[in-house]
Amino acid sequence: MNRRRQIGILSVGTLLVFALVYISREQGAANGFPLLLLPLVLLAGFWLGLRGSLAVTVASAALIAAAHELGWLPGPLATLYMLTSALVFGLTVIFIQAYEAWMKLEAEARVPQEATLLRVERKARLIRGQIEDSEFQLKTLTQLYDAAKKIMGILDLNTLLDEARTLVGKTLFHHFGAQAEADTTVGFYLPEEESGVFRRFASQGHEISDEGLPEQLPPENIRIWLGEAFGPLRIRDSRRDSRLKPWFSDAAVSVLIIPLVMHEILIGLMVITSSRENAFTAAEFNQAAVLGKQVVFALRKALLYRKVQTLSITDNLTGLYVHRHFQDRLREELHRAERYRHFLSLVLIDLDHFKLVNDNHGHPTGDAVLTELAARVQRVVPATALVARYGGEEFAVILPNAAKARALQIAGVIHEVVKATPMLVAGVSLHITLSAGVSTYPEDALTQETLITTADTALYEAKRSGRDLVVGFTRHIKEKNI
Ligand code: GH3
Ligand code: MG
Ligand code: MG
Repeated sequence: MNRRRQIGILSVGTLLVFALVYISREQGAANGFPLLLLPLVLLAGFWLGLRGSLAVTVASAALIAAAHELGWLPGPLATLYMLTSALVFGLTVIFIQAYEAWMKLEAEARVPQEATLLRVERKARLIRGQIEDSEFQLKTLTQLYDAAKKIMGILDLNTLLDEARTLVGKTLFHHFGAQAEADTTVGFYLPEEESGVFRRFASQGHEISDEGLPEQLPPENIRIWLGEAFGPLRIRDSRRDSRLKPWFSDAAVSVLIIPLVMHEILIGLMVITSSRENAFTAAEFNQAAVLGKQVVFALRKALLYRKVQTLSITDNLTGLYVHRHFQDRLREELHRAERYRHFLSLVLIDLDHFKLVNDNHGHPTGDAVLTELAARVQRVVPATALVARYGGEEFAVILPNAAKARALQIAGVIHEVVKATPMLVAGVSLHITLSAGVSTYPEDALTQETLITTADTALYEAKRSGRDLVVGFTRHIKEKNI
């Protein structure tokens, strides 16, 4: 029974006892006795159960009997009292049983209701959570899908990787933006064709930086990190992980290495780092891995596009730019020189008596000489120079921002690097020389066409003067050749 109810009944009972004792005093103790018995039995019933009320009834019967024996209570009255107490007991039993049955019924009715309600509430909370999760996932997936669709159309490698960076920022948004308290970087690595070394494809000022990430990652380490199957890797604290030790700085504490794999070939790596330890959750790690799978398709396409473009503008044999690309670039450089009032020089090169190399040693040897010559020229020209294969054994070098004297000097270096060391081709040592003509914008020519013809005139003059020479164009040469 509920404690409050007990206290209530006890209080009412006590009041009744006092009231009855008062009444029995007024009417003579003997008359009040049965009335006094009633609340006593009732209370005992509540407090001690049926056995208690039985004990009280028996005790009162004993008292009545004793009172009768002592002569305080006449026989008919004692019998009446006995019957009254038996009746009171009987009523109490019925009352208590009815009360308990009622309480039980009520409790039974209440307990399942409460349990069901609790269950339903818990379920509702669960479903609400699931809906919220699903909504969030759907939103993320939609964003990813849209972004993936968008990046599939990008052919330029730079633009593509920048868009992929934006995509990472959207997916792992907790780590970026104003609220982010740690530095997060995203870097992309692409393998070099010959060495297989993964070189960082530096971001060109994207808001998500790749600064501080290693410039290159050797293939041996990558194999250790990712295993033969190229699985993604999550490092919670690189400072405690010896695998990443020499490669990642203290600024890159949490590291995700996401392999970009296509047809079981590793075509790139996406590296995400945070300066905070244990920064990326398992869910974020999975999202990054899924993202990697989307980026890889677009990356493959962009890499193929770049290859096709490079192939179409470079010469198979020498790796130099082809004639058409030379003309395009010369046009651009001339525009730039005009706009910024810079010099622009052109060097045309023709090998001396090259026909003899072919005749004496065969065409393949001649080819090998051309390849070696291209490599030597490229090694000595400035980084801003553009070297092209102008024709069969003729080459052109565009020298932006170079005045005549500087161009003559560079042409001299080219002349020297070819002449100084004989070329060892197919076991034969060949002494190769070249002739070169140099002309400069604006002093020798103002248009693309005349820049080429004046350089060619100078080259012709070099040949005419006995070959193995570098000649700068002058008005005097022009007049001589007319
Ligand atoms: P010169 O000093 O007057 O330039 O004499 P040369 O023999 O070099 O004459 P020219 O410049 O006319 O030489 C063209 C020769 O270059 C003809 C051809 O056999 C050779 N040649 C052109 N293209 C190639 C090529 O791709 N491979 C090889 N092996 N030889 C080539
Ligand atoms: Mg020639
Ligand atoms: Mg020649």
